[in-house]
Amino acid sequence: MTIFSKIIAGEIPCYKIAENDKFFAFLDINPVNWGHTLVVPKQETDYIFDIDDEQLSEMIVFAKKVATAMKEAIPCRKIGVTVLGLEVPHAHIHLVPLQKEGDMDFKHKIDNPDPERMKEICEAISSKLKFEN
Ligand code: 5GP
Repeated sequence: MTIFSKIIAGEIPCYKIAENDKFFAFLDINPVNWGHTLVVPKQETDYIFDIDDEQLSEMIVFAKKVATAMKEAIPCRKIGVTVLGLEVPHAHIHLVPLQKEGDMDFKHKIDNPDPERMKEICEAISSKLKFEN
């Protein structure tokens, strides 16, 4: 079981943004910028391009809904999209609010982000979400 599966199962706490039957979104614990969100499939696959076409398409559509809510909740120019997967072997998409290119610098993360600010950001994004299910 990956650390992300434990988060999805509620065994490890997280700042949860959204969930449906197949996908889960939550704030990255060491954000590169405030609002940095991870989108994860509930089914464990390590490498994102090993996910079958239908599931991958649905994952992108889910990520789009989360990114739309992020853009409404957080002042930014765009929501940047990155896939790394070098640390956690459970496919995930990084969504990061961007004002400038340097806002997506994975060498400079926010260590020990203020829990109150994380909670506020989580609630602000969640409140903008529009899901049918
Ligand atoms: P990657 O696998 O894409 O290289 O990086 C994994 C990302 O997951 C990192 O940005 C890291 O901060 C985040 N991460 C790792 N463990 C946890 C965790 O337990 N909770 C949360 N919310 N994020 C995590």
